[in-house]
Amino acid sequence: MSNFRTIKGTHDLLPNERMIWRKVEHSIHSIMQQNGYGEIRTPAFENTELFVRGIGDETDIVTKEMYSWIDQGGNNLALKPELTAPVVRAYLQHQMGNTNPLHRLYYFDALFRRERPQKGRQRQFYQFGAEAIGSPNPEQDAEMISLAYNIYKGFNIQNMMVRLNSIGSAEIMPAYLDNLRHSIKSIEHELCKICQARIEKNALRLFDCKNPRCQELLDEHALLIFESISDEDHAHFKVITQILDEMGIPYSHDNKLVRGLDYYSHTTFEITSTILGAQDALCGGGRYNGLIEQLGGKPTPAVGFAAGVERLILAIGKQNNMVQPVDIYLVHMSQELIPTAARIANDLRKNCGKTVVLETLRRSMKAQMREAGRCGATTTLILGIEEFAENKIIIKDMATGNQEKIVLSEIIQFVNNTP
Ligand code: AMP
Repeated sequence: MSNFRTIKGTHDLLPNERMIWRKVEHSIHSIMQQNGYGEIRTPAFENTELFVRGIGDETDIVTKEMYSWIDQGGNNLALKPELTAPVVRAYLQHQMGNTNPLHRLYYFDALFRRERPQKGRQRQFYQFGAEAIGSPNPEQDAEMISLAYNIYKGFNIQNMMVRLNSIGSAEIMPAYLDNLRHSIKSIEHELCKICQARIEKNALRLFDCKNPRCQELLDEHALLIFESISDEDHAHFKVITQILDEMGIPYSHDNKLVRGLDYYSHTTFEITSTILGAQDALCGGGRYNGLIEQLGGKPTPAVGFAAGVERLILAIGKQNNMVQPVDIYLVHMSQELIPTAARIANDLRKNCGKTVVLETLRRSMKAQMREAGRCGATTTLILGIEEFAENKIIIKDMATGNQEKIVLSEIIQFVNNTP
């Protein structure tokens, strides 16, 4: 066996797995397009500075998870660790805001983070997601949440939970953070080291801490942001919940759900499923009214979500190991017949749209028939010397075992007329 292995945290997708991936990709493309979203694909690497500014220099992604390097020309580059910043970079670079006041964009792409690998957590993984750039209104947030939810519903994902919150507009943040720090003054020393470090740098992210003791202390003492948002922001949140109610999308209000970056505002949401185990997040999203300006554009409202594809495939679960269907296996009995067999296979693919597999190992008749059974072919064609001399071919229905001889020139018509 070769000593070469995939790099830790990366994986190969073999043909049986790719089957379910292709189905998933196909459904996502059609649902996105059905909702008026257009696909965008950005390069695999960008200037590192885009992510430092776009995600924030206090985040785990930027401080320790980015694959970045200086290239031969002295440029500081990074493999993309998230997709919103590149989409916004493209939106600005191509001045998309000038052509239309609202852009609905979606992506399906690979990204890279040097995280600790575990089930549902890789170093190269895939995300699909959507960004609506231009509308400040709550119906746009509701559209985003329902889009994500309906994608999962379409895959029949069980035990889903939509959690929803509002962190209000950016203007309230400085005063709220002061009040938050004040409210936890007496329990500061009891919080974990990570939380203690976050109090000054990024206090909102205290609520992201996975330590149950920290969460208990915050429950008892911390001032929640939802209690500080303005009447206008409450009204924005209310409209979202009204639309979700009307659409029959179940959700719960989680008043500790935050996104700890400066440019996030208003809505935050997450969809989880208990069938995923520890890494239960299917997707996360929210409004990021400050990002476009932060990356050098005019202030522009935007909302989006990002969803892990590997997590979705895990959640789909048992259908995971699908076998690529074969319609016809073409068995042939002698070397002289190979060109004719190859031509028949080609004609059937071209004219009947069938998946046709041709024997190329020159095995015995018995071994070829066994292979036809193994790959699940519904029909086997047998080109024997005798049949060839008569200008005929045997067609065998693998379910019933019935077989008959037909004239070679009628094979396409015959296959097309067979259900
Ligand atoms: P984020 O970009 O961190 O908000 O993540 C959005 C979604 O991507 C999560 O809800 C997960 O479904 C998925 N995800 C995040 N990190 C990973 C990872 N390392 N491996 C696989 N999926 C991930």
